[in-house]
Amino acid sequence: MKNTKKEKHLHRIAFILLSIYLSIPQIGKREINDSYFDSQISIDNTEQSTLLLHAVDENLNLTEEEKEFLYQFKDLLEENPYLDCITTYQAMNELDIIYTTRGKEYPEKIVGIYIPSENVIKIFSKDNNLDTLIHEIIHCIFMNQKEGNLPEFFIEGMTELLANEYFEENPFLEENSYPFEITMVKILCDIVGPDIVLKSYSTGNKELLEEAISNKLGSNSSSRLLDNIDQLFKKYESGIPISEEEIKAITTSIDPYYHEKVEVDSIEYEMYLYNRSMIELLSTENPDIYYLFRLMSEGYYTKTYFSQKLQAKYPSNIKVLYKSDLSNTFEKQKKKEVF
Ligand SMILES: [Zn+2]
Repeated sequence: MKNTKKEKHLHRIAFILLSIYLSIPQIGKREINDSYFDSQISIDNTEQSTLLLHAVDENLNLTEEEKEFLYQFKDLLEENPYLDCITTYQAMNELDIIYTTRGKEYPEKIVGIYIPSENVIKIFSKDNNLDTLIHEIIHCIFMNQKEGNLPEFFIEGMTELLANEYFEENPFLEENSYPFEITMVKILCDIVGPDIVLKSYSTGNKELLEEAISNKLGSNSSSRLLDNIDQLFKKYESGIPISEEEIKAITTSIDPYYHEKVEVDSIEYEMYLYNRSMIELLSTENPDIYYLFRLMSEGYYTKTYFSQKLQAKYPSNIKVLYKSDLSNTFEKQKKKEVF
């Protein structure tokens, strides 16, 4: 009854894209490259999101309720020009969501996981399910990342930053999962621009991000910056103490950029000092707790990096004072997800 024109259009795109997808083995023999696909089909962002939601519609593993939930990812899908549409179509078309008890192979703090090889999301927690589900669905959407070599902190930080911007009631309050990873991703967004960060994340291309960092910071100090940050977060995740010197090795690569390129009394500079001071907490005895203390005493910034609706709602970057239920916050802080 409703919108039959749109339906026809949708089926046409789905048919074309699926035809391409199904004919990949044959095309492969004739040397495929990006321009081959470009010449065959070009769809705009709205068509892309419509098509991917069609994949959800046709999914045989999901309940109607789960499908309704996935439709809420429309904006995230529509606003990303770098999505690997074919891989994401397949991932969303065959995704399964299982609610189960946590296996012994997973640490207690893990409340959910996306397993790319099986294209399955497993949810372990009984409460706070939606946050976990959103995070894992975003991993599923960017399933193609597994082909790349992006650092873990970058994948988790971006995943959670996108989840916050597109779904959270209080999108700027990073108090749930991966607050330090998000902070680091924000610093990278400020240096190279959110567009490069989104492209690198969506395509799994680490070199793209490294090159952009080198261009901005100069190749000498930044050649191993991403790897150094990655090492730092690996230590943090494993509970190995981090020294102040290790953090300094990273901040001294970044500081000169802000000294030279950003006005000292600008909000950008202020935000960098704030984010930097959060990263410095990684060398304290209990970074998670100190993070919350700092958040509560200093507040946070309303800067949007990706969501267009959020950007329209909060067009300027201001500092906001913290108001939250403390006990609830601490409870949430204990929970984390893994890739
Ligand atoms: Zn994750």
